[in-house]
Amino acid sequence: MIDVHAHIGRCGKRRGDTLSAEQLVEKMKAWGIARACVLPLHDNPEGWYLGNTTEEVIAACERFPDRLIPFCLIDPRFGDNSPTSDFRDLLAEYKERGCNGIGEFLPNLLFDDPRCLNLYAQAGEASLPVLFDMMPQLGGMYGVVDERGLPRLERCLRELPQTVFIGHGPAFWADISGDVMPEERRGYPKGPVTPGGAVPRLMAAYPNLWADLSAGSGHNALTRDPAFGIEFLNRFQDKLLFGTDVLRHDQTEADVPIVGLMRRLLAEGYLTPAAHAKIARSNAMRLLGLDLTPAREAGDPAVAQCLP
Ligand SMILES: [Zn+2]
Repeated sequence: MIDVHAHIGRCGKRRGDTLSAEQLVEKMKAWGIARACVLPLHDNPEGWYLGNTTEEVIAACERFPDRLIPFCLIDPRFGDNSPTSDFRDLLAEYKERGCNGIGEFLPNLLFDDPRCLNLYAQAGEASLPVLFDMMPQLGGMYGVVDERGLPRLERCLRELPQTVFIGHGPAFWADISGDVMPEERRGYPKGPVTPGGAVPRLMAAYPNLWADLSAGSGHNALTRDPAFGIEFLNRFQDKLLFGTDVLRHDQTEADVPIVGLMRRLLAEGYLTPAAHAKIARSNAMRLLGLDLTPAREAGDPAVAQCLP
């Protein structure tokens, strides 16, 4: 599998909430993950207390070039805090240094704040997808903000067709259901998914909206109504991405249930081998332009498992 959503460094408020690159690679071996995208969190001021900047992530990924792929994080307020800031040199530099996407994008700004639109447009020009975490309101936490029904995300999808967005987080996934209540958008709503949710509507309408299955929010969205979850996975098998959001050294496979869920969906026939392969790895390879053929030819066993 290819994990599009992993972290290293310090990822929580407690000093012990850490995961080293070495520990991440050990977990990947145990969980059948050939490659992981490592997402910095620190470069948005909302993540100021976290020790994982883009520079630290690039340096760690350079130590494990056959396992870890860096993402970069650019805050839309960097520089002159304006909706016309030019990030092109920085984006080109990060791409040159191996970064394959922007994320985890979590400034606590409105999703369609003009400063965000400016960065998204330049990310699209640079062919770097934007993986975001979303929150239901300004203040109190990290994450770009949208209301129920995701109108601000829809505006960005419509106005910036060149930019790929990868959805993630509670406020995004709660909108899988048409009956989501505002107070549920911070958590993990349970029970049947009702028709009319913004997530399936936008996934169907906009080729530039993708989603990762990571974290409690992704797993909850797929399992709260199992029949709906299986239909959703099959319907959007060309734009869903396996991810864990692993971020602490003490997490076991039980703490990252998407790993076991992917295995069961295949073993129990809910996903065909072809659909499973797309979600587990080939969508990520297509979106991020990853070529694993040289690694397979060099005898990398994790890749041989992926690309028989
Ligand atoms: Zn994350």
